[in-house]
Amino acid sequence: MSASSAPAAEASYAFLTADTVAEHLRERPGLSDRIDPAALESVQEVGDGNLNLVFLLRDTAGRRLVLKQALPYVRLVGPSWPMTPDRARHEAEAMRLHGSLVPDLVPTLFDYDVDRYVLAMEDLSDHRVWRGALNDGLRHDGAAEAMGRYVGRIAFGTSVLGMAAEQQKEMLASAVNPGLCRITEDLVFTEPVVDAGRNGVLAANAADAAELVADSVMVAELGRAKWVFMTRAEALIHGDLHTGSVMVRAADGDQGPVDSAKAFDSEFAFYGPVAFDLGALWGNYVIAAARATALGDDAGAAWALQLCGRTWTSFEETVRAAWPARVDPRVFGDDLLEHLLQTWRSEAWLFGAAKMARRIVGLAKTTDIETLEPSLREGAARGVLQVARRWVRERHAGSDPRRAEQLAGDLLAATATTG
Ligand code: ADP
Ligand code: MG
Repeated sequence: MSASSAPAAEASYAFLTADTVAEHLRERPGLSDRIDPAALESVQEVGDGNLNLVFLLRDTAGRRLVLKQALPYVRLVGPSWPMTPDRARHEAEAMRLHGSLVPDLVPTLFDYDVDRYVLAMEDLSDHRVWRGALNDGLRHDGAAEAMGRYVGRIAFGTSVLGMAAEQQKEMLASAVNPGLCRITEDLVFTEPVVDAGRNGVLAANAADAAELVADSVMVAELGRAKWVFMTRAEALIHGDLHTGSVMVRAADGDQGPVDSAKAFDSEFAFYGPVAFDLGALWGNYVIAAARATALGDDAGAAWALQLCGRTWTSFEETVRAAWPARVDPRVFGDDLLEHLLQTWRSEAWLFGAAKMARRIVGLAKTTDIETLEPSLREGAARGVLQVARRWVRERHAGSDPRRAEQLAGDLLAATATTG
């Protein structure tokens, strides 16, 4: 899609096009040192995402840069769903703060244009979006651990554990992100069980969706999750950390151990519950496993499921390692550390369940499931919904991630349909 189809009259700023990116590079400080605006060899608009314009630029010397611009509406839907472009500022602020904590785990931000809502960042074209790699059955070992480390460093470094209280409050105030939080509150925590006219499933899954709506335990647990999401300002979380928000690069070939993994697209960032990012990863690992199960790749499914434990263990180790450096150890003692870890581990199940449910019945679905033949998709969708409903119950009986993996694997195997 080109930006020229956007109704410019509704916006007070110009949308970037292939013809105007060079001008942007010239106008913004420092950018023409990184890439030559007069020698652009390739300008590609690749926004495969739901919200924004993304341009990949390359000059004749092979230097590369990415420009990402927020539109004043949700791209997936169009101008009928207005959405503040200020989300680009939230993405920029999160990239800066996260980048100061884990520079290897986020793209480098070079510039943010507050008037035109444009980020200029490191090009990651030598990586691939993890969801696509998972869909292709490829294994990137180390990516789940990297994301556990990312969430752990952010949890510590952006909360009052790692920041002075006043500074943390200023950051928190600046990061209040009502428009984007509203999307999550609606799509993740409400619409799985209260259809606002945006839901849809295969006819063969209509009964599964109806059972979800009628599941009073699921509804109650979604309510708890939504309350935590809306009230517990623990850390500057990513806010949308599914496998489509992670880029991976194998050290050698198209799979195997990664030499780089990056969390990107942090426009949903706000001060929220740490476990929301963990749950987003877990839920999407299960969705990847559901696809593998549907395709008869049982080893691939088992591999995808054990990513839950890998992310958790890396997260826990990261938080424990940082703990001695907390800024205020006077009453933030070791008992608090254990309490936080226990809370986050249990909430990872809860948020994972919410994420799974919305991805099956709600507006923005996943390619993992949607590209399956309907005969296979039926069982995969059913399986994911059943895992969600089981996780919200079983988390109260013990939150070991291995149990979560086991329960998910059993249910996915039991519900798989054949083509
Ligand atoms: P949206 O917020 O609209 O979802 P994303 O940030 O997810 O936009 O970007 C959309 C797509 O653009 C990504 O899925 C990826 O393919 C590509 N992309 C985004 N940022 C980069 C980058 N820094 N380097 C290379 N490709 C990128
Ligand atoms: Mg996005």
